[in-house]
Amino acid sequence: MKRVAVVVEHDPGGILPVTHELMACAKILADHIQAEVVAVIPGEGDPAMAKKIAGFGVETIDLAITGADGYNSEAWKEALHRLFTAMAPLYIIVGHTAPGRDFAPGLGVRLGGGSIAGVNNIVLDQAGPLFSRPVLNGAQNAIVRPEITPCIVMVQPGAFRAQGQSAARPGRVIGMEIMVSGAGIQPMGVKSVTTRGEDLDRAAVIVAAGRGIRERENLDLIGRFAALFPNSVVGASRPLVDDGWMEYRFQVGITGARVSPKLYIACGISGSSQHLAGITGSELIVSVNADPNAAIFNHSDICIVADLFEFIPSFERLLERHP
Ligand SMILES: Cc1cc2nc3c(=O)[nH]c(=O)nc-3n(C[C@H](O)[C@H](O)[C@H](O)COP(=O)(O)OP(=O)(O)OC[C@H]3O[C@@H](n4cnc5c(N)ncnc54)[C@H](O)[C@@H]3O)c2cc1C
Repeated sequence: MKRVAVVVEHDPGGILPVTHELMACAKILADHIQAEVVAVIPGEGDPAMAKKIAGFGVETIDLAITGADGYNSEAWKEALHRLFTAMAPLYIIVGHTAPGRDFAPGLGVRLGGGSIAGVNNIVLDQAGPLFSRPVLNGAQNAIVRPEITPCIVMVQPGAFRAQGQSAARPGRVIGMEIMVSGAGIQPMGVKSVTTRGEDLDRAAVIVAAGRGIRERENLDLIGRFAALFPNSVVGASRPLVDDGWMEYRFQVGITGARVSPKLYIACGISGSSQHLAGITGSELIVSVNADPNAAIFNHSDICIVADLFEFIPSFERLLERHP
């Protein structure tokens, strides 16, 4: 039987939302190649979590990786290498997330297969599935045909719509333990970012500033713009956070917060795949950008081609005249 494996993402709080998107991707792929989906939960072994995953109607391997303390990329690669060598899945679906990017490419090498990073879509070609991934900073998508298996498909968070547990019959749960050496890496512990995205989570409107604002002082303009909307907050693309203009908890994107406001207004943001990964949950996306070819316009409901230093003051004047 052909197999598509999913590596479940979880943290001490439970299954992470991206896992449901990975499952959706795996099911599309499995239906296309007539394979079964097998979910693997690497970690300490957690029967309750395994039961939940099996509720999707998939065979679930609750894999206790012993010999290493907590998450350890070397230990995960070693254990998953052994498991997947025996299981021989054709595709292994992994999140293009911090842990996924950490262990997946090396795992692909060990398995003698390959990995495709940043996958945002599947093209169901008769000759086999093709995978789309952004290139040129998100301006274009490359369509990739893997030529070797197993192929590790690293899926961008937000690329696939999560589906609920609709299976009539839960899948089988198999408990398994793999003892690893875990050598070569000594984890120093995990630091949780408790404040991340708190304000962004609550806001109905996010007005996000990008490098197009040019100077730190111009954040005042974005703040004034945001204040025109009730329950709003100013967010930022990563360069503004890297430059120390905004706190990390306001960073939107794959390494920041994933947001889902009613309205997201991107001001002077180009639309890199890393930024887009954080905003796909927004109900309405409006972008203001001086470049008519900016990638963000491909993902916006309303595209405003304008210099933000002209657009925002005109918008303010218009509101003053028509409150
Ligand atoms: C591993 C990794 C993780 C990352 N994580 C994140 C993340 O979580 N979040 C994130 O945002 N980025 C992230 N990045 C960075 C990302 O790749 C981009 O570099 C970043 O998103 C670009 O930010 P920007 O759009 O603000 O800047 P730019 O790409 O420089 O875009 C500026 C935009 O402003 C426009 N502009 C300029 N002047 C004006 C004007 N006067 N009026 C209107 N428009 C104007 C330009 O046309 C341009 O489109 C990550 C990168 C890596 C490698």
